[in-house]
Amino acid sequence: MTRLVLVLGDQLTPDVAALRAADKARDVVVMAEVGEEGRYVPHHPKKIALILSAMRHFAQELERDGWSVAYTRLDDPENAGTITGELLRRAEEHGATDVIATRPGEWRLVAALDGLPIPVQMHEDDRFVCSHREFEAWAEGRKQLRMEYFYRQMRRKTGLMMDGDSPVGGKWNFDHDNRKPAQDDMLRAAPMQFTPDAITGDVLDLVEARFGQHFGQLRQFWFAVTREQARRALDHFARHLLAGFGDYQDAMLRGDRFLHHSVLSPYLNIGLLSPLEICERVEREWRAGRVPINAAEGYIRQVIGWREYMRGIYFREGPDYPRRNALNHQRALPGLYWGGETGMECLKRAVEQTGAEGYAHHIQRLMVTGNFALLAGVNPTELHEWYLAVYADAFEWVEAPNTVGMSQFADGGIVGSKPYVSSGNYIDKMSDYCGACAYSVKKKTGQGACPFNLLYWHFLLRHRERFEKNPRMAQMYRTWDRMHEDKRETVISEADDFLDRLNRGEPV
Ligand code: FAD
Ligand code: SF4
Repeated sequence: MTRLVLVLGDQLTPDVAALRAADKARDVVVMAEVGEEGRYVPHHPKKIALILSAMRHFAQELERDGWSVAYTRLDDPENAGTITGELLRRAEEHGATDVIATRPGEWRLVAALDGLPIPVQMHEDDRFVCSHREFEAWAEGRKQLRMEYFYRQMRRKTGLMMDGDSPVGGKWNFDHDNRKPAQDDMLRAAPMQFTPDAITGDVLDLVEARFGQHFGQLRQFWFAVTREQARRALDHFARHLLAGFGDYQDAMLRGDRFLHHSVLSPYLNIGLLSPLEICERVEREWRAGRVPINAAEGYIRQVIGWREYMRGIYFREGPDYPRRNALNHQRALPGLYWGGETGMECLKRAVEQTGAEGYAHHIQRLMVTGNFALLAGVNPTELHEWYLAVYADAFEWVEAPNTVGMSQFADGGIVGSKPYVSSGNYIDKMSDYCGACAYSVKKKTGQGACPFNLLYWHFLLRHRERFEKNPRMAQMYRTWDRMHEDKRETVISEADDFLDRLNRGEPV
């Protein structure tokens, strides 16, 4: 009897669990471009194009490899519009009675497959270093789920950057060597870019017609869309950019959108690359003496540490996680996140490059757009939907814990032991934004004072009860209490005025 083998747009890996469990001789692979997936949040056109083009290329590879593939294009008149609708249609067409699937990376799709009226054989997605069971075992009985300890376990498990039982260089973490500001450098390489082929060209026309009104620019489109291209992008990163990754991973420059970042997450998250192949390549560069230890360790920590940890949290916490709101923040997402006018150079730049590339690096997401939303008390679910929509690498299992947990503290402190908030000083130290800003980062109050400076105190006061006993924040409350009363009043009333302007939708 024929079975259907579901391959989703982020499962484009030749040995993904469902394909391993299937029989090429009798089963039919189902792949479907469906409107629902493109619209449940208004995804960036580049992200939609990346996924559709990579799906079409992958389907061709499967067919070359001898699989029969039932592929539904977005503009197919028979298209049922949803993944489950397509599975039912194909089941009837092929007389199939069962579905073989790899567990989706999103609760919404897990529930949709669970609700199918035909039996679904669900296989764990084992393209990760840590299984759900292993994460549960690690988390069990711990008061706090700190990434650093999880990361050490992953280092021991994989043997990456290990000398026997000990970390190479005698330390698990070389972060103190990192976090340097960067200078403009005309010679710095950019991520590898690819010219669209005919398949991608068709996809771009389709996406333009169907999703052209979504936030973000479709062209220039230069992402890798095959495994072979993604491997070349990895090779290019390892050779030309990795060496500076550690030093400059927190830096931001107006003239350089990527600095030493790899821009590999879009490929990794749809299955064109695997976490271990990336990390093994990075370790090889270090063992060959071509990159410093802080670059290699720092990079590997992001992939087998943060990325795996975030996935563990998402599935451990359950389907309601993206809607948590521990700080009860209710402000609507300001229009500037969709490109509305602002004089705040840091936000303007981060949003502008997000629109242009479907990409911003970690510190732009965390300390610019995330920090501002947290200080301004933006509703975390609205913010989560924004991040999910606008980044080419955004899939809920990794985006939600980063946004709701790490960036907004909306999970009440599961991911972070304290909120990631800062005044304008941090942005000034790590970037060249402030020099070009309509506001002055040096001004704490008065006309033209940096809004981050005002809102920082406003945030701390709003949540005094929750945070003043946190040992890592107590000092800030002491500083506030020592401030002259007049100054405190001015800070709060100017912050209130600023927030009122945001509420009224005025440009800020
Ligand atoms: P690099 O800086 O080159 O880092 C290397 C790799 O490490 C990345 O490719 C990524 O796979 C991994 N990585 C680094 N940091 C993290 C992290 N915190 N969590 C998970 N993986 C990490 N990452 C996503 O993949 N998808 C998302 O939707 C996403 N949303 C985010 C939302 C917010 C609010 C924040 C603060 C972070 C988010 N991140 C997300 C994490 C991180 O910003 C991106 O992984 C990174 O910017 C991707 O660019 P890169 O490939 O150039 O990364
Ligand atoms: Fe951002 Fe403030 Fe610097 Fe302007 S002055 S770029 S608002 S941190």
